[in-house]
Amino acid sequence: MALIVQKFGGTSVGSVDRIKAVAQRVQATVAEGHSVVVVVSAMGKTTDTLVALADEITDNPSRREMDMLLSTGEQVSIALVSMALQELGQPAVSMTGAQIGISTEAAHSRARILKIKTERLKRCLDGGNVVVAAGFQGISSGDDSINEFEITTLGRGGSDTSAVALAVALGGDHCEIYTDVPGILSTDPRIVPEAQLMAAVTSDEMLELASLGASVLHPRAVEIARNYGMSLVVRSSWTDDPGTWVRSAAVGNRSLENLEISRAVDAIRYDIHQAQVNLLHVPDRPGIAAQIFGELANAGVSVDQIVQSIHAGNTNDIAFTVREPMADQTQVLTESLAAALQPKGNDGCVVWSADRSVAEVSICGAGMIGRPGVAAKMFATLAAAGVNIEIISTSEVQVGCIIGPTSGETDLQELCDRAVAALKKAFDLEDPAQDTPPLLEDDPNLAPVCGVALDAKQSQIAIRQVPDRPGMAAQVFEKLAEDGISVDMIIQSQRRETKDGVPTRDIAFTLAESDVDTATQRLRGMATEEGWGAIAVSREIAKVSIVGMGMAARPGVAAQMFQALADRGINIHTITTSAIKVSCVIGRDRGKEAVKAIHDKFGLEQPPGGADPTNT
Ligand code: ADP
Ligand code: ASP
Ligand code: MG
Repeated sequence: MALIVQKFGGTSVGSVDRIKAVAQRVQATVAEGHSVVVVVSAMGKTTDTLVALADEITDNPSRREMDMLLSTGEQVSIALVSMALQELGQPAVSMTGAQIGISTEAAHSRARILKIKTERLKRCLDGGNVVVAAGFQGISSGDDSINEFEITTLGRGGSDTSAVALAVALGGDHCEIYTDVPGILSTDPRIVPEAQLMAAVTSDEMLELASLGASVLHPRAVEIARNYGMSLVVRSSWTDDPGTWVRSAAVGNRSLENLEISRAVDAIRYDIHQAQVNLLHVPDRPGIAAQIFGELANAGVSVDQIVQSIHAGNTNDIAFTVREPMADQTQVLTESLAAALQPKGNDGCVVWSADRSVAEVSICGAGMIGRPGVAAKMFATLAAAGVNIEIISTSEVQVGCIIGPTSGETDLQELCDRAVAALKKAFDLEDPAQDTPPLLEDDPNLAPVCGVALDAKQSQIAIRQVPDRPGMAAQVFEKLAEDGISVDMIIQSQRRETKDGVPTRDIAFTLAESDVDTATQRLRGMATEEGWGAIAVSREIAKVSIVGMGMAARPGVAAQMFQALADRGINIHTITTSAIKVSCVIGRDRGKEAVKAIHDKFGLEQPPGGADPTNT
């Protein structure tokens, strides 16, 4: 007999008939001998209707009153689902977040879960009841009487998070998320109707796909599942099909205190056997990245990090790393590539360089999503340890820096040890850092690409000519974090320019479009004070990403993505990568077309080898 948490979304409890169907499904699970906790959302579009009501009264409702209002939606559905179960002869008890004892921070409308008291729940279950719990809500446990016992909500879509947190707190077997689609699809079905159902996906992939997954699964739910090794399945409310399993590696006994606000970073990875290659002043036109990485892939060179920084004039700089054993071969190839890419006219010339003494140091952790300041803390820590950052490349759950000794400095191993020791201390990590990122086995079941995501709500800001010395990236991102601005993709360019006798570099990043004005204002002030160059803003951008655990083991995956864009004449503004993700910033007007082209290129509309959905 297992303990299973079943969560039903708004559409699944959208009418009386659907509530009755939910009750039947729950009863069937109990009949199989399981204990069941049901988590429900508000019926249909209730939450939207309540938001609209508040809008009719005020443009600026207090967050506290919004929580009071929105939490009522779930209270209606728990009572009705409970009645429907009782009507079938199944004992059931409905409970609000407060009654269960889901204690949260006092942050209204976006509270994180601190702890869940499980005694009462367990007693109810032991008494043969199904517990029907209200999703999306909790009660604050502030350390003063004003903030205590306040009704809080977890943010829109937060019932998924309630469900996974309950499964973890109760030591459940797994968590089932029932919704109105058959499971998680390879891309948003509203953009690509032929998007295919994934049989399984890892929680790491799902987190990197946050912008894809956010609409079907609350990213915080995935974060909890990953941190506590909880299995999760997303499936249709209307069928018995198996849906999509979100798999997480087993973890040790992790404390249930501060369930959602534990560490922002849970691993430091480093690799000193990296060689960096720079191709500077390559023409800025569609097809160049495809050509470079296509040729490397054809020669069997597996590329780790790729960074294309913002263009300067009509040329781009592309830097990438390979593992050292590939360095000689890569160097020969790069030389011939640079020759082939030379512009015909008087447009400057492509130059290349290679550097064998670099190391990659990364911080990884799901906790950094939506938490401003984590990257800034890494940069500040490295600066304080006297480590200069050559290249920065970030993804949703990772910040990677390429570091190398400056002239007259100590050797690479010493530099890397210093960086890692400082980061371990700063992020409070007791676990020994792993030497190299664990190599992913060449398992045929690991798809090189499992999903394609589009984020069309971001903008990009570039700061030109920031002095190239330790601490500059920290200064920029600390100031933005102070304003509560989360940045997404950070890129520090490779090209150095001399301004007033000082070597400088450009730093670019993407951020939510809604934060652009605040960030620009803040940075313009800093640029004037510090004597940096111009602040360039590109509002109309889109970020397209591919994610897949299997890409690390297969050369040429990034090249295929670039080729798909080149085939459509879509120009790539910037590129960043992590071990399992490649992201490109392009013009927003081409975003959907790009997703379709990439989805098609990887054949995601065809089930790979007639994927067996039961093979999870
Ligand atoms: P619920 O109310 O059950 O929580 P949601 O509306 O939050 O349901 O999430 C399900 C919806 O997410 C689907 O109806 C679908 O339109 C949308 N969606 C967007 N991207 C994807 C994707 N990659 N896979 C599946 N569904 C997606
Ligand atoms: N009812 C809430 C919402 O619509 C929570 C949820 O459905 O997950 O956002
Ligand atoms: Mg949802």
